[in-house]
Amino acid sequence: MSDADKEKPNPYEVALAQLDRAAKVAGVPQSVRDILSQPKNEIIVNFPVRMDSGELRMFKGYRVQHNNILGPYKGGIRYHEQVSLDEVKALASWMTYKCALHDIPFGGGKGGIKFRPRDFSQGELERITRRFTHALGSNIGPEYDIPAPDVGTNGQIMVWMMDTYMNVVGFTDKNANRRVVTGKTLASGGSHGRETATGQGIVHCIAEWARDRRFDLNGATYTVQGFGNVGANTAKILARTGASLVAVGDWKGYVTNGDGINPYKLAEHVHKTGSVIGYPGTHSISRAEFFATAADIFVPAALELEIGIEEAKALNVKLIAEGANGPTETAAEPILRDKGIDVIPDILANSGGVVVSYYEWLQNKRSERWDLEEVEERLAKRMKRTYLAVSEYAAMKKCDWRVAAMAIAVERIARAYAERGIFP
Ligand code: NAD
Repeated sequence: MSDADKEKPNPYEVALAQLDRAAKVAGVPQSVRDILSQPKNEIIVNFPVRMDSGELRMFKGYRVQHNNILGPYKGGIRYHEQVSLDEVKALASWMTYKCALHDIPFGGGKGGIKFRPRDFSQGELERITRRFTHALGSNIGPEYDIPAPDVGTNGQIMVWMMDTYMNVVGFTDKNANRRVVTGKTLASGGSHGRETATGQGIVHCIAEWARDRRFDLNGATYTVQGFGNVGANTAKILARTGASLVAVGDWKGYVTNGDGINPYKLAEHVHKTGSVIGYPGTHSISRAEFFATAADIFVPAALELEIGIEEAKALNVKLIAEGANGPTETAAEPILRDKGIDVIPDILANSGGVVVSYYEWLQNKRSERWDLEEVEERLAKRMKRTYLAVSEYAAMKKCDWRVAAMAIAVERIARAYAERGIFP
């Protein structure tokens, strides 16, 4: 067990505190704040799955649908032993704000199953995924609620979800239902550039930040917590700017090399061994030492609420680009501010994933296949535009970037409620 398994605050309370600050700055009616303070639907399913041993085992799955005033619910599916209703509620609400911030016609949702996927065989993972999808039934749908990958899930798991859904909805509509999930593999209707999209989006934000501050990324240093889809892709893409990865960690522990770690070779090592631990040329450090490592940029890309008061005090960086959702505790924010550490908040920094999920959904809907260049051009343009909008809003309202990003989102949602009213 790592020392990351410390007592953490309730993520949903953190999300509510963020909403309160943003709603105040945006000046939206209390009714909108009240609506957003609770998800529309909280679905919990318990279902049995046959294990390889022949035994049956019960699983608990969640799907929280936070808000759909701007479009179908959209958000990832997490497989992790710490999944809880309040965690999924928080993650679902952040999806609502992320889509609204980008003006993507989607709402927010999130789901998950509480278990440790690494302890299960491929066959068991397939049966768990298919049975969960079946249990969700028509609670998901291509125009209603569209899952995607998150911690512990990937393109293969999305394809099993898609296939299960397609096979229960009737064969004439089968292909029209491909877009019931995004983040699929390329062979099964996924989009070019989706796998790397979140990391690519983070690097667009970092590059904009560096340009604004006339900071040279070539020769800069960075640290990354979590080396899965988001952490590894961010590390690889950022390395292309000439910046160097000096410390990295995952569920098993942390390693460092002040002369730089090759993220491409590290990814191969993780693929083979399951962790960053033992990567040649690095030595192990504690979690506390990792957070105290001097670098220019820190990218949290593991779980939420990893940056508490102690970590905020220890951090010795200029910028935190939040790859993970909700990595920063409310109490840590003023400490970072006082230390002059800039924060590019999660709903902006890691939004490349949902942006390209939207492109995948559009391609499926129109029976199109865009090439990688087109996806990347569109992503770059949208990330830069939204980055600029957040930076201008923060300057205009003299608020921090998290509040600015969430306030833009909440204002957009409030406008829709003002025009549509509350039924009946
Ligand atoms: P992943 O499962 O691919 O990788 C997760 C990484 O975190 C792994 O390296 C794992 O070992 C590490 N980790 C797990 N528990 C840890 C702990 N206690 N301490 C340190 N490291 C730990 O997941 P991912 O898709 O890369 O997601 C990472 C974060 O990014 C999550 O917060 C997720 O919600 C967010 N996110 C993901 C996407 C996406 O497109 N996948 C998009 C936006 C945001």
